[in-house]
Amino acid sequence: MNKPKVVVLGAGYGGLITVTRLQKLVGVNEADITLVNKNDYHYETTWLHEASAGTLHHDKCRYQIKDVISSRVNFVQDTVTSIKPEEKKIVLEKGELDYDYLVVSLGSQPETFGIQGLKEYAFGITNINAARQLREHIELQFATYQTEENKQDDRLTIVVGGAGFTGIEFLGELSNRVPKLCREYDIDPKKVRIICVEAAPTALPGFDAELVEYAVSHLERKGVEFKIGTAIKECTEDGIVVAKDDVMEEIKAGTVVWAAGVRGNSVVEEAGFENMRGRVKVNPDLRAPGHNEVFIIGDCSLIINEEINRPYPPTAQIAMQQGETCAKNLASLIKGQGEMEGFKPDIKGTVASLGEDDAVGTVFGKKLVGTKASFMKKMIDNRALFMVGGPGMVMKKGKFKFF
Ligand code: FAD
Ligand code: NAD
Repeated sequence: MNKPKVVVLGAGYGGLITVTRLQKLVGVNEADITLVNKNDYHYETTWLHEASAGTLHHDKCRYQIKDVISSRVNFVQDTVTSIKPEEKKIVLEKGELDYDYLVVSLGSQPETFGIQGLKEYAFGITNINAARQLREHIELQFATYQTEENKQDDRLTIVVGGAGFTGIEFLGELSNRVPKLCREYDIDPKKVRIICVEAAPTALPGFDAELVEYAVSHLERKGVEFKIGTAIKECTEDGIVVAKDDVMEEIKAGTVVWAAGVRGNSVVEEAGFENMRGRVKVNPDLRAPGHNEVFIIGDCSLIINEEINRPYPPTAQIAMQQGETCAKNLASLIKGQGEMEGFKPDIKGTVASLGEDDAVGTVFGKKLVGTKASFMKKMIDNRALFMVGGPGMVMKKGKFKFF
């Protein structure tokens, strides 16, 4: 009898949890499992703000995929260019794959809302390559400044677009990194400006007001200037154009970082699944409507929080929980049991770091700030390593500098 072919696209949080669970749930004789990923490594997307600011080396944020999957899983290092659901086929840069069951866990891409110049001139916090590039770019600005005869102070201005969780966490790291860069490159810290531009009437929209106040005050004390209720309208080679109450302003900057939201992977949009900004509103069992053999999880999926009738924000927490359910449902289909589990997120809380030594968050309904919150954030980061790679991975890559 032909074994069903399971193909998992993307070795991020959702994809790796699915594969590491599925390899235990179904026997070698029951299914062939193939995992496709662009790189031979997994990176902790949730740590990329650290690698981007240069406060944590990028190698600390990644590990080899082969170290966490079993030898029975066929790993294909390649880039997915398209999904053809009608033909049950995946087109890769270097080949093609057929599937009986598919898991799409390709993560997200920056949402630029069509704003001019962002794709060309702004940096993103999106993957290891982007993080390395941003870290190096900032450092190059500092180094170049010292070689200039007519010093351009704007070179030392760093603009961060968006005060969502990514923007705030990056600012926390950056405000710790800049004093070190100033010492390294003999630059007066007063010359450096870090500006955060946020379109909404508050930083961290929707988050607890007291914690937002704590985060903003903490970052302001470290020199971050906030422009709240101000939207980035354009990005140019020289900086950005912003608008507040219809008044336009140009801010010159050597570095512009776009951290103002994400959309699902464009491969999902192009595959023809009904989607909203690359995210597919999946059935309770995580399958795509009308495609009983396709599971979509993580940032490519959209699930509604019934309590407020709005989508859950895409998070690693949800992607990992979906991976567990997806593996169980796949195993049930493969074994012909037919029982499918409905997915319901179990939100344990949200913690945002403010550099290595501070954080804000709510955990099991309790508010935390300062070292307690920072400790909790590191425990959450270590837990993600544990969930995929067990205690060995925590020992190799974990965060243990708690205070
Ligand atoms: P990912 O984990 O992003 O993995 C996608 C994988 O697909 C990657 O390995 C990628 O290389 C691969 N891939 C992409 N395109 C292709 C292609 N075409 N072909 C082949 N492979 C491809 N969430 C939290 O819950 N807590 C946090 O503290 C938190 N912090 C964050 C901090 C930052 C800086 C950022 C940017 C996000 C953070 N998030 C956090 C959100 C979280 O990272 C995402 O929701 C999560 O990574 C989604 O998991 P995923 O499996 O869908 O995708
Ligand atoms: P986000 O959508 O949460 O925040 C983007 C911010 O950018 C918003 O505050 C928005 O008002 C602002 N914005 C949009 N357009 C703008 C413009 N033109 N000018 C200025 N500001 C603009 O996106 P994110 O912060 O990238 O987070 C993506 C996902 O990852 C979210 O679901 C988030 O919860 C998750 N995440 C979680 C954590 C954590 O739990 N610690 C950390 C990072 C990201």
